[in-house]
Amino acid sequence: MQQPWDSLGQQHLWLPYTQMHTAPLPLNAASTQGCTITLADGTTLIDGIASWWSACHGYNHPHIIQAMQAQLHTMPHIMLGGLIHEQASRLAARLCAITPGKMQRVFFSDSGSIAVEVALKMALQYWRNAGQPRKDRFIGFSNGYHGDTLGTMAIGEPGEMHKAFRNAVIPQYIVDIPADEYAFTELDNLLGEIAPQIAGMVIEPLVQGAGGMKFHTADVLAELHRLAQKHQILFIADEVATGFGRTGSYFACQEAGIAPDILCLGKALTAGMVPMAATLTNQSIFEGFLSEDKDKAFMHGPTFMGNPLAASAANASLDLFEQSDYQGRIEKLEQDLLEQLAPCANLPNVRDVRVKGAIGVVQLAEKPANTDRLRAEFIKQGCWIRPLGDVVYLTPAFTISQAELATLTGAIYAVLKQQAAL
Ligand SMILES: *Cc1c(COP(=O)(O)O)cnc(C)c1O
Repeated sequence: MQQPWDSLGQQHLWLPYTQMHTAPLPLNAASTQGCTITLADGTTLIDGIASWWSACHGYNHPHIIQAMQAQLHTMPHIMLGGLIHEQASRLAARLCAITPGKMQRVFFSDSGSIAVEVALKMALQYWRNAGQPRKDRFIGFSNGYHGDTLGTMAIGEPGEMHKAFRNAVIPQYIVDIPADEYAFTELDNLLGEIAPQIAGMVIEPLVQGAGGMKFHTADVLAELHRLAQKHQILFIADEVATGFGRTGSYFACQEAGIAPDILCLGKALTAGMVPMAATLTNQSIFEGFLSEDKDKAFMHGPTFMGNPLAASAANASLDLFEQSDYQGRIEKLEQDLLEQLAPCANLPNVRDVRVKGAIGVVQLAEKPANTDRLRAEFIKQGCWIRPLGDVVYLTPAFTISQAELATLTGAIYAVLKQQAAL
């Protein structure tokens, strides 16, 4: 149904990763509740991806809304330069207590891309402060995705997403995640050669997200961490997507028992309520910036860093994790996803079905000829599912009901089966 503001949006909004000339008209969202999106025409859709992995407790959770309302009336925003406040202080301490490694300091920002940019700049300046300015390159992995800024695009290789900018980014080392002992030996040898130039190794632990939803094991992750340590390369874990329970453990690094030097958080940090991201580090990296020399201070500062409203949402989200058996719930979700997506593996147009924590992935045999049509089929089934390249994935809220999950997985099977018959 046409809304009074609809044509304004169509004339003036520019949507992400969207060919605006040919894309179907976007839907008009009017409200959200739990795992449901209600459109302006009254249609409801079950959200299979929790607004890009972020709305982990479902939409409009009353505990988070209450906390934000209280904060809205006392102090919605204050700069963090020279001033601190209760919400950011409490949040920083709580994040240090629950994250892997001995995290001691939190640098706040507004988006996952910037959290990773901050991690890169931190690593560069850490080595410069330590008298090793030649360590100014990074090692990243194929299929990795760390954001859309010039710095973060350079350390990932998410298929074709960033090919338009290939010549503008500073070249970094991108390697395949080793799959066997031979590949690990090769990587070890490469690092032996290039370590004097390498500031950090950047990885999405256990699950690579936007670059293709690829998984690796905790053993592989632990071995990569060991190699980084062996060659004096800072280990930077980008848990923007995997953080806060998504892969089954509170943070993915915990499953491998490793302590990153720098850790990036975003997406579910405020449970999808408002933008916020964070870059955490341990005492030893932080001490690399302490000096009588002012130039050794970390040189970065987002205007809205540590925003009190966002921090109040994040604190309230942590309350919910503390109060609930989220781990039990995610284990159950993992079993349900495995069981319910398994039949897809028998379809001729499906190559692989894989599940990790609250992430379900159906890998298609080939990239669908018309992704827009596939999306439209899911909408017809009452589901908000957005295929990504050659994968159809679910990253629902942890609070999703049995019936809602069954509708999502049923829709995936039905739509893919129908496509296979075409
Ligand atoms: C989404 C994502 C980012 C970028 O976060 P934005 O908030 O979109 O800037 C970075 N790293 C990973 C692993 C992500 O999934």
